[in-house]
Amino acid sequence: MVDFKDSPSEAEFRSEVVMFLEETKSLRADGKDPGASFGPKSVSDGKMSDYEEWRDALVSKSWVAPHWPVESGGAGLSSREQSVLNEEFAKAGVSNIGGFGTMMLGPTLIIHGTDEQKTEHLPRIMAGEIAWCQGWSEPGAGSDLASLQTRAMRDGDEYVVNGQKIWTSGAHQADWMYMLSRTDPDAPKHRGISFLMFPMTNDGVTVRPLTQMTGHSDFNEVFFEDVRVPVANRVGEENRGWYVGATLMDFERSGIGSSVGTHKSLRELLKRTKALPRERSQLEQSAVRSAFAERVIDAEVALLFSYRLITLQAADLVPNYEASMTKMFSSEMNQRIAQLNMKVHGLYSALYDSNEEPSTTTQASYRYLRSAANTIEGGSSEIQRNIIATRGLGLPRG
Ligand SMILES: Cc1cc2nc3c(=O)[nH]c(=O)nc-3n(C[C@H](O)[C@H](O)[C@H](O)COP(=O)(O)OP(=O)(O)OC[C@H]3O[C@@H](n4cnc5c(N)ncnc54)[C@H](O)[C@@H]3O)c2cc1C
Repeated sequence: MVDFKDSPSEAEFRSEVVMFLEETKSLRADGKDPGASFGPKSVSDGKMSDYEEWRDALVSKSWVAPHWPVESGGAGLSSREQSVLNEEFAKAGVSNIGGFGTMMLGPTLIIHGTDEQKTEHLPRIMAGEIAWCQGWSEPGAGSDLASLQTRAMRDGDEYVVNGQKIWTSGAHQADWMYMLSRTDPDAPKHRGISFLMFPMTNDGVTVRPLTQMTGHSDFNEVFFEDVRVPVANRVGEENRGWYVGATLMDFERSGIGSSVGTHKSLRELLKRTKALPRERSQLEQSAVRSAFAERVIDAEVALLFSYRLITLQAADLVPNYEASMTKMFSSEMNQRIAQLNMKVHGLYSALYDSNEEPSTTTQASYRYLRSAANTIEGGSSEIQRNIIATRGLGLPRG
């Protein structure tokens, strides 16, 4: 059953969030999304300087890390309150703030980190001083991550790391990496992995950016040659890193922010199409009108999927195949919307040049090319289908 209604306290919290967004509107007066540029690198690029007051306002509410417990500097929001926050932020066109540090590493350290690790890293994550990247995937280990081969050999109080990661988002800008590395090659594959952290400036770390088909370089290959990492930088027990990494799955992931965001951007696409003379004529084609109608239905369905996850989480249940259904449907829907965007702008969208700021027309090409990754990142659609088939429908493994 899906529960759509706010409880009285959730309704009160929603009003607080809406009021906050209204009161801080002037701090985002340029209409851009400050959440998208939040992070230490953006600060040094100067981009974040426009939004410092906005960030301070968020810090004053502890909403930089809404999901962290209060004693660790977060807001300690329940999964339902986090969903309310994400929903209202998305309606206002403001994406979630914080990168891998606040979203992934912080919650992991809070549960598995030593007191020293918490004292060293949590305040710096909250202050946005350090940018983190996530070194999990390898050339031979993506969907089957537990097959990773990067080795960390124990040498006294240090590990010596050798190997390679790939698709590491933001590694070219990151200050630190958290990663999974094989510490016992003889153990069953899930049981010989440890979770390590180290600065990207360590000797032996080489980052090579990869160019995507959008023309941008957002992710990288990272090579390790005899990189020395203190044992004190291991999170959790040796060879139990797989389970440390798995901790992250329990945090709020209803996707409500992106469902609301998709709804909003679809409406904006329609508004834009009606307003632009050349594009408006496309609306006379029944194929385009039908496509808009179908995508609006998609967006409504994606919202329902998110509310279902919120309902499960509010009942203290951990979504399983239901999360896979949401991820798969939403990412494939994004690709369908990107196709519609291309159709509306026609051949003009092909004037896209990755060296220039995209225009209303050429952003369609950028979105179309970028959306290809949606069904790969965070677990491919094929893997989600396998989960739905086996765990959801009880079908045998192929
Ligand atoms: C935009 C983007 C950002 C990323 N950022 C990061 C990052 O910051 N850090 C990081 O560590 N990784 C990152 N990744 C990597 C991502 O996690 C992997 O790409 C993903 O897990 C898939 O792994 P793979 O690329 O090795 O493909 P593979 O696992 O080799 O899969 C290749 C194809 O085979 C299919 N396939 C694989 N196994 C099965 C199966 N059992 N049944 C059916 N089909 C199967 C897959 O669906 C896919 O179509 C990122 C990826 C993208 C696209």
